[in-house]
Amino acid sequence: MTVSDFLEQHNERAELQLMEFLRIPSVSTDPDCASEVARCAEWLAEHLQHIGMPTVQVYPTKGHPIVYAENLQAGADQPTILFYGHYDVQPVDPIDLWTNPPFEPTIRDGKVFARGATDDKGQVFLHMKAIEALLAVDGKLPVNIKLLIEGEEEIGSPHLDPFVRQNTSMLSCDAVLISDTSMFAPGMPSIVYGLRGLAYLQIDVQGPNRDLHSGSYGGVVTNPINALAHIISQLKSIDGRILVPGFYDDVLSLGSEEAQGLNDLGFDDVRLMNDVGVDTLVGESGFTSPERLWTRPTLDVNGMLGGFTGEGAKTVLPSRAMAKVSMRLVPNQKHHDIAERVMNFIQKITPPGVTVRVQDLHGADPVLVPRNTPAISAAVQALEETFDTRCRFAREGGSIPVVLLFDTVLQVPTVLMGFGLNNENAHSPDEHFDLGNFRLGMKAAARYYQLMAASATI
Ligand SMILES: [Zn+2]
Repeated sequence: MTVSDFLEQHNERAELQLMEFLRIPSVSTDPDCASEVARCAEWLAEHLQHIGMPTVQVYPTKGHPIVYAENLQAGADQPTILFYGHYDVQPVDPIDLWTNPPFEPTIRDGKVFARGATDDKGQVFLHMKAIEALLAVDGKLPVNIKLLIEGEEEIGSPHLDPFVRQNTSMLSCDAVLISDTSMFAPGMPSIVYGLRGLAYLQIDVQGPNRDLHSGSYGGVVTNPINALAHIISQLKSIDGRILVPGFYDDVLSLGSEEAQGLNDLGFDDVRLMNDVGVDTLVGESGFTSPERLWTRPTLDVNGMLGGFTGEGAKTVLPSRAMAKVSMRLVPNQKHHDIAERVMNFIQKITPPGVTVRVQDLHGADPVLVPRNTPAISAAVQALEETFDTRCRFAREGGSIPVVLLFDTVLQVPTVLMGFGLNNENAHSPDEHFDLGNFRLGMKAAARYYQLMAASATI
């Protein structure tokens, strides 16, 4: 029997087991769910033992536990793959918008609806079933596999960073594999190779020592909100170009071949406009939407505070104003460097009569994974064979901080091979996972591990 036959034969059982996994309300941010998160880690550990992983360990942290398992029986002459995923899920609010209760998984139209279905339980579980099939059919794995499945991804992985740094030899590997992203479109398997970074600042503007009567003082005292508006308006031009000196110095320009690849994905501007209810898309001239979204930096105000915002009118000249400003960064910008440049520029353009304090709240550097590594080639081949179509390369506009952590600490390439779809409502009501992609995902994952074996020819 082939591994693919085994998966086909046991598909129904795999779906039922996935539903068991989805029934556990492992909402990491909710203190009332802490015992359920712990129960989910135990369930996972038991299942990893059940599929034949010889070493399984639940590591407690100061937050939620980390589940780790390994099978190194392939031996030292075979590569080692570290699979990373998460078993925690987002909260379910607003609950009345769910068709079925979020922790009572229900199958409709070939999709399983439940919180965590696509993000990330369904995608984690398909790897477990792939490993089970390889062990059942061949008696051993073609490569060494380590599984690191955390319970705090949805709250920013506060305990993963120290865990990885303290366990570098246990986690040492030749490649990291993550299935926590989406395919570009249905039937279009893709590998994500670029993620934007982030720089997040808070700007506080202090003017007079108290709120003032705008009739008695307006015209001679600088208004902090006007000053803040003046500062923000000078950070970015109306056509989307960021005006901070040196901001673009380290931006890697896109080669024409790479640009063509991204533009050939068939990005649909009209659909995006309809989806979000706007009548035009904007951005730097000379760039397409996918280029603007994935390969160009941005600067956006996330929130502002100041003055009188109640009903009616109050003629006040406020004493303070505040704004939160974030920038999405692209390779090879560095978030500390960008934050510093913006802070210096803000000091230069601050109008007289106010003082400005800028805080660097947090940041992440962008990531670009080289596309010509054996780990990526194996993923491409596994996806193409399984989905019977060409595999695409895509980038994402957001950040996945763990990728950077693995990159810096373990110094190996990361493969982002996702089986979700963008419209599967991750983080929203009616989250679901396409069971067709679950089935193909199990096969693609198993094929990937086979192709990573030293003996495989790609
Ligand atoms: Zn996720």
